[in-house]
Amino acid sequence: MKIMTDPPAPRSRLLKLLDWSDRDKCLLLSVLLWGYMFFICVWHQVTVHLTEFGRNYVSSQGTAMLNSVVLINLLGWALLLAWGGWLRHGNRHSRIYPNVFLSFFSVGFVLLGWVFGLYSPMTGMVLMGSPLVGFILFGFTRVAWNFAFTVCVVLLLAWLSVSGYVEHAIYFARDPVSKQHLSYYWIASTVAFMVPFITSVITLVALLLGRWVHREKQIRDQALHDPLTGLSNRRELFAQLAHELARGRRSGQSLTLCVMDLDHFKRINDSHGHGVGDQVLVQVSEILRACLRETDLIGRIGGEEFVLALPETGAAGAATVLERCRETIASSPVPLESGDFLTVTASFGAVLWLPGHPANHALTDTQLLSRADEALYLAKGAGRNRVMFWSQEEEGAAAFP
Ligand code: GH3
Ligand code: MG
Ligand code: MG
Repeated sequence: MKIMTDPPAPRSRLLKLLDWSDRDKCLLLSVLLWGYMFFICVWHQVTVHLTEFGRNYVSSQGTAMLNSVVLINLLGWALLLAWGGWLRHGNRHSRIYPNVFLSFFSVGFVLLGWVFGLYSPMTGMVLMGSPLVGFILFGFTRVAWNFAFTVCVVLLLAWLSVSGYVEHAIYFARDPVSKQHLSYYWIASTVAFMVPFITSVITLVALLLGRWVHREKQIRDQALHDPLTGLSNRRELFAQLAHELARGRRSGQSLTLCVMDLDHFKRINDSHGHGVGDQVLVQVSEILRACLRETDLIGRIGGEEFVLALPETGAAGAATVLERCRETIASSPVPLESGDFLTVTASFGAVLWLPGHPANHALTDTQLLSRADEALYLAKGAGRNRVMFWSQEEEGAAAFP
């Protein structure tokens, strides 16, 4: 028997990032980016004032330029943070806030890249990583325009640098990565800049992919299971049944297929309401789960109709199991809110499938089901609350026992 099990839901709110509003996503990223800019600011101050590298490689013009760029970034991210916090506090949403966020992201990083030299691994990293996270978080269109604009600005700045209109890598008095001068400090700093950025990108992508996998599984489960009882629905049951029939044809093992229908269910709905009807359906499905084996199939194919398939089960075994189900349902009254109990019974129509038998081998699931239906019809006619088997000799059903 297959029971629907929901995949474990992500526990932390952070893991549901994909479901956050654009405002909250921007707010989180603003915090991270402010922290990142603060890190660059500290690095810059330490480099300029305390290191040999600062004295030998950094130009005074570059120092002033990076001071301004870092200040613009710190102020910008702080303002975006405050704006987002204000929106969140008042539970407001703004269409322009995410757009301003994305535009400022491009401007801030292009400026930073331009100061250090656009032809650097850091520019590549930002151009690769940002659209990746952006597409997942904010959708294709919004980020695509921003990305296209940024690429154009990067190319324009590169052309201006090559043509001598603006200075390339203004931060440096001399190139820290050349054949003549190779600075270990600068290589290590580049790695230090890249590690937090790449780690954040990978973490975000991993979180988002994990959430997608979770969602995909949830949607698949919803498509294959009945929401009320959690049992397989018609589609899933028939897929599983086809698999069992194919397996039976190969192994020659018998299978019993049964249609179970609750007795006078309409009356239950009419006198006690649909809520109680649903409660009955849930209780009956729990009883079926408890009475059947792990390998048996069980599905709800209609309002109060269930299909049970017992693989590798012959007539005697199936009769015992089905009788146990019938007996348990009849002897487990459903407790009502009024304090009363409602006795429910069910009728079972079953057919035994023997794949080794030439007349049986080619039978389809639909043919088997219609034979089980015939037996159910006779069980209803014979007074309900009973198990009947389809029998070829009598071209009808035989009562059990
Ligand atoms: P019988 O003993 O001959 O099977 O009589 P019955 O009243 O059970 O049979 P019938 O098929 O005429 O009625 C089935 C009723 O099941 C009709 C509808 O009111 C009810 N039903 C169908 N789906 C649901 C459901 O999801 N929830 C509830 N509460 N009732 C449902
Ligand atoms: Mg019924
Ligand atoms: Mg019915």
